[in-house]
Amino acid sequence: MTNVVHEGGCLCGAIRYRAEGTPYNVNVCYCTQCQRHTGAVMPAFAAFTLDRFTLLSGKPTSYRASSFATRQFCAACGSSLFWQRDGDDKLDVFFGTLDDPSGLAPPDDQLWAEHRVSWVPDLPGIKTYPRERGSR
Ligand SMILES: [Zn+2]
Ligand SMILES: [Zn+2]
Repeated sequence: MTNVVHEGGCLCGAIRYRAEGTPYNVNVCYCTQCQRHTGAVMPAFAAFTLDRFTLLSGKPTSYRASSFATRQFCAACGSSLFWQRDGDDKLDVFFGTLDDPSGLAPPDDQLWAEHRVSWVPDLPGIKTYPRERGSR
């Protein structure tokens, strides 16, 4: 595992974070919650274990969108920042908030493909799940 440092933050710059090393997982999520949370048709995440993640500045606001997870965003500028399953030791960072998104590996899988917007092409060469990871 390389010890590359990735930094990122929200649009207004109030919230900044750092993540180290190779992400645990990179995925595109087409679920309707991610689409609404970001306003984007194909939100993507890089997941890091919490011991590799540091909040450098600012305080994200939390929103509970489901019974099992919390979403965090910047209350000042509205940027979508993080998704975390309750009690998990991993944090999913919204890919578009990274300073250098192309510096990370491409996605391992795509989730909730049944909600992919019709004109977004299928991403070749990665695992596709119709709903959550592991679904058929
Ligand atoms: Zn902000
Ligand atoms: Zn999603």
